[in-house]
Amino acid sequence: MRNFGTYPITVNYNLHTRLRYQHNEDDLHRAGRYVEEKQLDIKVNTSSDATIENNLWNQELTEYEQAVCNMLRKVEGNPVGRMVLGLINKQTTVWIIPKSDAELKADFSAQTWPLNYDIQPGSVARGVGSGDTVILFDPKLGDDTLFHELVHAYRYSHKKFNPICIDIINRYGNLDCGSSEEFLAHQMENIYMSQANRPLTTDYYPPDNGTATKDEIYDFLLQHVDRMEALKYFLRHEYLAMLAAHTFTNTAYNPFRDYGTLEAKLLQGFSISTLPELGAPPVQH
Ligand SMILES: [Zn+2]
Repeated sequence: MRNFGTYPITVNYNLHTRLRYQHNEDDLHRAGRYVEEKQLDIKVNTSSDATIENNLWNQELTEYEQAVCNMLRKVEGNPVGRMVLGLINKQTTVWIIPKSDAELKADFSAQTWPLNYDIQPGSVARGVGSGDTVILFDPKLGDDTLFHELVHAYRYSHKKFNPICIDIINRYGNLDCGSSEEFLAHQMENIYMSQANRPLTTDYYPPDNGTATKDEIYDFLLQHVDRMEALKYFLRHEYLAMLAAHTFTNTAYNPFRDYGTLEAKLLQGFSISTLPELGAPPVQH
């Protein structure tokens, strides 16, 4: 395992250790022994494959940890990336661990969850909690995905990860709940991409997750009032959003900086002068 610079990030190749203990974790879960399941999971995610089979996996371990550190250096080379890296709570550790090729084939994405997750009885969900985090990541997913996951890790590290429902259309075509945390990570990711003059995407959720220009995305935000309310929510409660608004003044895409203009445009011709923030109770008259 290796630490990345002075950041609270440890890259840990533990693939074989993790896959070996997978069925033990599953057995403990089925038996309802959730505390032991979590203790084993914490041990697995903080143990290195260097300690097994006389370091037989040394070559792939070195390749993985070097590739992830190179990618973290790329994130650090982008001012938006550097800001997020620097703001992760230094009292915590972000553990970046590998995903197997089979897992990537089944689901080509990364995941972030708290190392010491809150147990949800009867559920395999591990997304609730705070402090140290685990990012399941493969370099093939790219630095934009790694940056996105680091935004989640930042929120968990400060005990702020708190998903609020935003409207999405699920795969059956019905209205469903998306997560404000994904909205934040996606907006930060777009600012990160814009800073590097790379392609932007409209929304985190399909079917609106395709490539788009800044103006097209701003139009999308204006057509989705809850996304606008989410911008306002984060501007009021999330230092990262506020700092991005004031720091990246020359970045083309920055809806936190441009929020005031967008809100004025949305409310043109209406009698209300301001939008509520996401999750706020309706105004009583
Ligand atoms: Zn995400």
